[in-house]
Amino acid sequence: MVISGEPDSTAMDAKIVLLGPPGSGKGTQAAILKERLGFTLISTGDLLREAVRLQTPLGIKAKEFMDAGKLVPNQLVVDLITEKVNSLNSGFILDGFPRNIDQAEVLEGITEIDVAINLDVDEDELVDRLTKRRTCKECNAVFHLMFKPPANEGVCDKCGEDLYQRSDDTEMVVRNRLKVYHDNTFPLIQHYEAKGKLANVSGRGSIEDIYHRMVRVIDTL
Ligand code: AMP
Repeated sequence: MVISGEPDSTAMDAKIVLLGPPGSGKGTQAAILKERLGFTLISTGDLLREAVRLQTPLGIKAKEFMDAGKLVPNQLVVDLITEKVNSLNSGFILDGFPRNIDQAEVLEGITEIDVAINLDVDEDELVDRLTKRRTCKECNAVFHLMFKPPANEGVCDKCGEDLYQRSDDTEMVVRNRLKVYHDNTFPLIQHYEAKGKLANVSGRGSIEDIYHRMVRVIDTL
């Protein structure tokens, strides 16, 4: 598959899991891959935040876990993701799922992924990245107060709506999310390595550099 930055119909057939700690840039890269290569993006975090905003039964249950930086109980997320994946005829990028080995096994029961791309970033950089992150209320576009500030303070460059700080991007909750990542999600790296599906990509440097590293991995599929 040769995609070199241009949309390519075969690129959309790839089934990709994005791994990496909170703040590693998964959401940013997933959004660019969707925009430039036409991937279907499934972000469990975005789906859950939308459910919270709409105060659906799922959102009401999920909110307390999310606000504490904890994982939402598996069954709630598994139902959400199973429905989404089964409704697709093409490939996809999964951002934020699986988050633990049990979820990975559920995913294996639904479909076979092509690659798990692990975005690797030093931990001391993550707290800074997350606490300075601002997210668009409407389109979920992500900004950073220092590295990617919006043109007008507090306003989304893409759709003009207000930016906000996610309730789980405050320092105390961020530290808890990093601990949850270490205990639950980090073991997935070994899990996918053992299956020969792991690709490590450095998450340092500019958004464009990281994007091109990701494209090189997708190019090999
Ligand atoms: P994210 O936007 O991926 O950082 O996710 C934000 C929050 O949503 C997480 O801290 C969890 O509370 C919840 N969440 C997202 N994906 C999952 C998942 N696969 N399993 C459990 N909880 C999740």
